[in-house]
Amino acid sequence: MRYFSTRSKNYIATASEAILAGIAPDGGLFVPESFPRLDFSAWSRNSYREIAEKLFALFLTDFSPTAIQRVVEKSYAANFDTPEITPLHWLDDNTAVLELWHGPTLAFKDLALQCLPNLFDEAKIIQQIEERFLILTATSGDTGKAAMSGFSGKDGSLVAVFYPNNGVSTFQERQMLTTTSTNVRAFAMEGNFDDCQRSVKALMQDVSFLARLKERSIRLTSANSINIGRLLPQMVYYIYAYLQTVDKYGDPLSVVVPSGNVGNILAARYCKEMGLPLDRIHLAANSNKVLHEFLSTGIYDANRELLKTTSPSMDILIASNMERYLHLLTGDCTYINDLMKALKTDGCFSFDASLLDLYSSWATEDQVFTTIRRVYVDYGYVLDPHTAVAVFSASDSNMSGRRLIVSTASPYKFAETVLSSLRQDFPADDKGQILQLQKILGTPLPRPIEELWSNQPEDKHYLLPAQIEAAIEELIGAN
Ligand SMILES: *Cc1c(COP(=O)(O)O)cnc(C)c1O
Repeated sequence: MRYFSTRSKNYIATASEAILAGIAPDGGLFVPESFPRLDFSAWSRNSYREIAEKLFALFLTDFSPTAIQRVVEKSYAANFDTPEITPLHWLDDNTAVLELWHGPTLAFKDLALQCLPNLFDEAKIIQQIEERFLILTATSGDTGKAAMSGFSGKDGSLVAVFYPNNGVSTFQERQMLTTTSTNVRAFAMEGNFDDCQRSVKALMQDVSFLARLKERSIRLTSANSINIGRLLPQMVYYIYAYLQTVDKYGDPLSVVVPSGNVGNILAARYCKEMGLPLDRIHLAANSNKVLHEFLSTGIYDANRELLKTTSPSMDILIASNMERYLHLLTGDCTYINDLMKALKTDGCFSFDASLLDLYSSWATEDQVFTTIRRVYVDYGYVLDPHTAVAVFSASDSNMSGRRLIVSTASPYKFAETVLSSLRQDFPADDKGQILQLQKILGTPLPRPIEELWSNQPEDKHYLLPAQIEAAIEELIGAN
């Protein structure tokens, strides 16, 4: 299997090359040259790990079977708090919630970011690379800690994470500031997530910066979902969940995905492309509803104010993986290149809406609060605000039949929003809030939360976008 850039046919890469590069040299994203069509019914009895192995074997064709086995064994083990890795919780006969937050950082990013560093290690062996890697990552909250956790203590890898100052929750910031490894560090950058992502992307294409790193035998790459090594692991749970959810193979199943950078929902769309019998793939948006408007009208217009919501991981206007989706629909690199240029210079572009095959709807902040309360009252189940966006969106569309709600974060990560939705009085500190939420949930506190409280956080590393290079220098110097 070869990988091409979305923006030109000039860059062909093997899987290991694409994973190590993160982004194509022309600024495009690597995509597989084709999607094998499969009857997945033969995988019905397979465990999560076995499905991961089979899927990776199809796409990582320059990895040996033992290399793939090593990756899967290391990535999906006791680092998750359940052997199922992504358990299902049924709300009613037609609605299953797919819990993607049983990993070390309590959010769905772990499914990919516990795996990416291991893919990286094997890819370095395949490519016989001895140089160190600097991994730059922009985060709206969850990717940062997930990348830090995955790469923590990994020899030969330095991770610099950039999150919007005051744009992530107290809990998320504390997660990023409590790390026991010197090779990973988080920076609070002035601006919003899109600003962070833009700075990181610009730096990754800055020729003189790259040359200076090269002199010191350091290569640059990304752990954001622009890396194809993030998307493949995310396809695994759709296959696994489909096979667990339907009565018989071939039955339709709709999936509802709370979306930001569109990596998660794209993984579902890729599975459908391979023949997984998914019915509707439904994008759920919060009040930053640029994606919902795009899917409804074909006009992508990012020229608007980014609103701060209670689902911060979805507070994004420029969704990186939209580029891959549009490429999947058209296969036309020149056209994609033009659209992405227009998005960069004018903040907008238009696309033939009749080609767009994802459904969508969105939830206001009020609807998020009401949904958390309603689902708790009706089903005794507590949703985090991102998942609540999905549950509301599903109910607000004319979807019929069985559906899978993709749950992207543990409610513990957003205790304050959850408690106020449940109309509870609660203390001001997040520890008190979490303990109160624990009483409601009646389950033991997840281990990562206990660890969070037993470690002393470092001081915040605050910076302006112009200081990004200096910050990276400091990180390199410290290692
Ligand atoms: C990252 C994230 C999302 C958005 O996922 P994308 O793949 O960027 O669309 C949704 N919810 C949570 C909790 C997340 O961490």
